[in-house]
Parts: sequence; structure tokens; C-alpha cells
Amino acid sequence: MTDTLRILIIDDDDVDRMTVRRAIKSSGINAEMEEAPNGKTGLRLLQEQTFSCAFLDYLLPDSDGLSVLRAARAAGVGTPIVMLTGHGDERLAVEMMQAGANDYLPKGKITPESLSHSLRHAMRLHQAEQDRLAAERRLQDSNRRITDILESISDAFFAVSNDWRVTYINKEAEHLLHALRNDVLDQNLLERLPHLAPWFHEALLKAMNQKTPHTAEGFDEQSGLWLEAHSYPGNDGVSVYFRDISERKRTEERLSFLANYDALTGLPNRILLKDRLAQALARLPWQNRVLGVLFCDLDRFKLVNDTLGHNVGDHLLKEMARRMKLCTRSGDTVARLGGDEFVILLTDMARTEDIGTITQKIIDSLGQPLHLEGQEVFVTASVGISLYPTDSTDPDSLLKQADVAMYRAKELGKNGYQFYSPKMDAKHAQRLSLESALRHAMVREEFRVYYQPLVDLSSGRIVGAEALIRWQHPELGMISPMDFLPLAEETGLIIPIGNWVLHTACAQARAWAESGHPEIKMAVNLSNRQYRQDNLLGVVQRALETSGLAPEWLELELTEEIVMRNMKHSESLLADIRAMGVALAIDDFGTGYSSLGHLRRFPIQTVKIDRSFIIDLPGNADAAAITEAIIAMAHKLKLEVVAEGVETEAQRAFLQEQGCDIMQGYLFSPPVAAEKWDTLWLKQTAV
Ligand code: C2E
Ligand code: MG
Ligand code: MG
Repeated sequence: MTDTLRILIIDDDDVDRMTVRRAIKSSGINAEMEEAPNGKTGLRLLQEQTFSCAFLDYLLPDSDGLSVLRAARAAGVGTPIVMLTGHGDERLAVEMMQAGANDYLPKGKITPESLSHSLRHAMRLHQAEQDRLAAERRLQDSNRRITDILESISDAFFAVSNDWRVTYINKEAEHLLHALRNDVLDQNLLERLPHLAPWFHEALLKAMNQKTPHTAEGFDEQSGLWLEAHSYPGNDGVSVYFRDISERKRTEERLSFLANYDALTGLPNRILLKDRLAQALARLPWQNRVLGVLFCDLDRFKLVNDTLGHNVGDHLLKEMARRMKLCTRSGDTVARLGGDEFVILLTDMARTEDIGTITQKIIDSLGQPLHLEGQEVFVTASVGISLYPTDSTDPDSLLKQADVAMYRAKELGKNGYQFYSPKMDAKHAQRLSLESALRHAMVREEFRVYYQPLVDLSSGRIVGAEALIRWQHPELGMISPMDFLPLAEETGLIIPIGNWVLHTACAQARAWAESGHPEIKMAVNLSNRQYRQDNLLGVVQRALETSGLAPEWLELELTEEIVMRNMKHSESLLADIRAMGVALAIDDFGTGYSSLGHLRRFPIQTVKIDRSFIIDLPGNADAAAITEAIIAMAHKLKLEVVAEGVETEAQRAFLQEQGCDIMQGYLFSPPVAAEKWDTLWLKQTAV
């Protein structure tokens, strides 16, 4: 020990103090000494100054050494203290050590060696105690830091000992487990939290018993939350981190809903349908039952959607979905493939006839009118049915067969159902190949426009022409518009095709006028889809501009059905067309609403009486009466009347007699290519 030590000797006996001092000196210890003659002074010095060691007499005049020792320790004095005793009483020694003495030395045994030994022993013990306290402080600090971390993280955390006592629980865990720290700390977890979700409990058990980390997630009834828990085993128990994953679960559920369900109707989509069908087919072979796949397409949906808008269309689809569900049982599946196409799986049926009965019930229910935006709307449905096991045992084939049968139901007049039969495949394939050929026809320039003369009944002169499309198919020959226009309308191909006809017809009218023929009116037909196209006005305008045809020589033909179904749209659109100077004609009059009164509100110039009336003239009294009435009424409304399909001289004579203005029909000429008009021009002058 090279440093100078500061030593305090507390003793009332001068001789004893001297003895201690001498012994210290003789032992060679380099020390600076202080003395106190009584306990009070000694205690004060101990508290005020720093000493390397103190010798304290057990017997003091004012108080006993033991009290001084206790008081010093109670006041936080850490100085090593060696007690000086008068006699070697072991019991006393134990009491002194318990009170905080570091060693004791009987006064009678004070020698430089024993004193130096005692001094060093006390100081060593003291140092060890200091070290222990410092370590304890460090441990406390680090525990506090860990606690701070555990309290500040967003995860919930708790720890349990090997005998399931809760040794720690953070705030978030209190919150998620609905537990109060004071109620659970040091208590058996399972007793305090009996409602812990079974999956959570199991994850804890596994970590505890198998000594490997475990992760689990599940729903917690108590909190109403989805939780994810990670348990880590340690030497003295298990630590558990867990968190609320409800938001993630909700997102996952939403995603899986979007992937498997139709957002508009909430019905299963194509993916889930296929899944359900495959599952049902896997079960069926053991049950000796039949399964029906119903492919259901709404018949007039496009019209409603185009006419009344998408909002009404969406409402209609939802309502139809609801009705389909009402007609089926809970084990059946009603799915929406998109657009107005639905598929219904009738599982677990005993007899094929039952499938027909249910299908009819569905068709009847879908056909009931519904009220949307103040209007009574109704659509019908065409349904194709394929059967397991009769038609196929494979899900894709069953769906395809039901689809094919649905097309057959449409062809047979819609609003009904058809069971699939292999014979339908050929027809269906034909339709598909027609569709693809139609797509190519435009590019391959296979379309032609034929023109049919409109002849003034009183003068016999050609006053107009109707442009009528033809398809010159390389293998099938000339195809009638009646055979391909419905498909073009359905697929939307009518838009480019129709616009091409409009351009071609306008250019032809202009060409005839330029080559010296009298100017005539060019009539061009518009389908519903063409009429509903976004920029119809712009399309007509461009056709007139590029051809150089004056607007008054163009007439657009629309059926009553198209005008009346698009009522709102019609009012402004027809006025705009009329404002351009283009004329408007009602085609096929008599087949639809047949109400000239209704048509009065639209700026129409011409009415074309449908061929079905002309064909029976003049012999059929009804046809004659109707024709007569139409002509009279139209004239009252200052409309020009055209008779379509005039084939015989008798028909012509009758019409002329009734004052009909214009005729169109095979009597004068069928529709022909523009080149053939050279003879027609000559023919009229001959009349
Ligand atoms: P539509 O507009 O009523 O045209 C008159 C139809 O009657 C034409 O049939 C014409 O060939 C036929 N026809 C004329 N006179 C007689 C006759 O004396 N006897 C008989 N039996 N038939 C006669 P087509 O050319 O087959 O056209 C049928 C329908 O296709 C047209 O009826 C029209 O609605 C539509 N259509 C034709 N071309 C076009 C077009 O370019 N665009 C649109 N959107 N529709 C067209
Ligand atoms: Mg027409
Ligand atoms: Mg017509």
C-alpha cells in the first residue's frame, strides 16, 4: 500500500489510542491519523470526512460502539470499520458484523501484524462491497433501460417464469390482454388470464415445453382483435411479443374478396366459380346425383344500359343477382362472369327434370318488371344448361357447353332455356368463325354498298337512293346484312362498319351529281349502337365535309324503336342533326310503337311504311286500311311517305291512289352496285 491512508481512531482511552497508533506506525503503513475521544465526535467525523478505515472502540463513555456503528451505517457512511473489543466474545462479533462492521480486533491482541491484517481485511471487504454495489447499480441501470425500451415499443410484451408466473408485462400487453399489471405481476398467467385464446396458449406451451421459438396468429375473442404472437424460450421462462394485426387481416380479406368476388353484385366471380365447380364435381361421383351448369345471359341488358345509363344498368344487375339467389338453395352457387353474364351451379339434384323446373322459375323471376328511376324496366334472360355427368365431367367443358346452349336459346327467340346437345357445337363454331371473319372483313375490304332507288310515285323519277350494305365473303359469297348485322351490333363492329357506309354513300351521291345526274337524296341506315355512339354529330359532319355533299341531300334512317328507347338522348340529338340540315326518316314504320303522335315531337321529315304491310296490298283489307291511315296521318303532319318493298304493279297503283309520295322496291329495282346505276338513270327518263 503506497498511498497515504487516512485512519480515524475512535476511543476514549488515551492509552488505547496510542497503542493503535503505534501499531499502525510499526506495521509500516503510511498513514495520516485522526482521533476522536467519544462516539459523538467520531460519528460526526465519519460523516464529514473521508477515511480509508476507522477503528471504533466497543465501549465508549457517551454511547456504545455498536450504536455509533449502526448510526454511521444508517447515515450512509461506507468507510470500512474495524471494531476494537475488550474481550473476544464471538456472539458479540457476529452482532457487530451484522451491524456493518468489516472486522473486529480484541484490544489485548493488538500487534502491528494483527492490526495491519485487520486493516487490510476490512479494506478488502469494503472494496468488495463497493464493487458489488456498483455492479448492482449497473444491473439496475440496464434493467431500467430494458424496461424503458419494452414500454416504448409498439409491440406488446410479457414474460413468464418456468412455473407460469408473470415476471413482466408492458403497457401495450396490458392493453391488448385487458389485464392490469398489478393484478397479474407475480401471479400465475393461466389463472389470471383464463380467457387467453387457445391458439395463443398453445404457442406459449410449445415455447415452454419444446424450448424452441414459436409464432402463431389468430383471433382473440376477448379483445375482438387479430393478434400475432412470437414466443421465445429462455433459461427462466418464456418471453412473448405480440401485436394487433387486425388491419393487415382486413386488407388481406379485402384482397381475397376482390380476387374471388364481383365487386358490383358481391357474387363469386369466374375464379371462385371454377373452384366451386371443381369441388362439386369432385364430390359428386360418390353421391349419385346430377349437377346443372346454367349459363344465363340477360336479353335486353345492353339496350337498357345504353338507353338509361350505367347507374340504372348497375341497379338492374344487382337486382337480377338478388333474384337468382332467391331462386336457388344455399348450397348452389350464383356467379357473375362479367357484363350481363351469370352462371348458376345447381348442385345435388336428383333428376334432370328438376333442373328444367328451377331454370324456368329463374327465367320467370328475372322477367318480372322492376322500377328504376321512375321507369318500369324489364329484361328477359336466355339460359343454356349443361349437365354432369351426361354432357361432361370436366368443369371447363361444362361451362363451354352451357355457353353454347345459351346462344342456341338466344337464336330460338330468347327468354327461354335450352339443354346443351352436341349438335349445337357446329352452329356455335360457325358463329365464332363468322365473328372472326367479320373482324377481318373491314381490313380486307370485303364490304360493298348497294344502292336502291327511291322513286317519286307521281313523276316516276328517281328522287333518292337507300344505301344498303353487302358483305362479299371470299368463300361464302354475298352475305345479307340480316345475317351479319346483328353480330356486328353485338360486338360493336357496327361502329367502324357503319361509319364507312356513311362516308361511302355520301361520296357516291356527290360523285353522281358531279357526273351530271340530277341531285338525289341519299338515305343511310343507323343502328342503335351507331345512334348511341359518342360523337355521332362529328361523324356525320366529317362524312359531309370529306365528300363535299350538301347536308340537305343526306337522310338518316332510324327505327321508331331506336328513337323511343333513347328518348332523352333523342330530343337534343335529333334537333342537332336537323339543325345541321340533314333530314331524318323513320324506317320500318308500323312494326314498333306505330305512333305518329309520339314522333311529332321530333323533327322528322319522312316515314317509311314497313314492307310487311305493302306485301299484302291491295287485296288484304287490314293492310290496305292501315296503309291508308298511315299515309293520311303522315300527310297531316306534313311528313313525306315512302312505301318499302313495292314489288307489283297493283301495289304501286294502290299506293299512288292513296297519295303515297315515294316507292322503293323490286318493281323498280333491287339494291344494286353503283356501276349498275347507269341503266337505272336511263330507265327513269323512259317512264
Ligand atoms: P331496311 O332499312 O328496311 O332496308 C330495306 C330492305 O328491304 C333491304 O334489305 C332491301 O333489300 C329490302 N327490299 C327493298 N325492296 C324490296 C322488295 O321489293 N322486296 C323485298 N323482299 N325486299 C326489298 P337488305 O338490304 O337486306 O337490308 C336489310 C336491313 O339491314 C335494312 O332494312 C337495314 O335495316 C339494315 N341495313 C342494311 N344496310 C345497312 C347499313 O349500312 N347500316 C345499318 N345500320 N343497317 C343496314
Ligand atoms: Mg332502311
Ligand atoms: Mg325498312
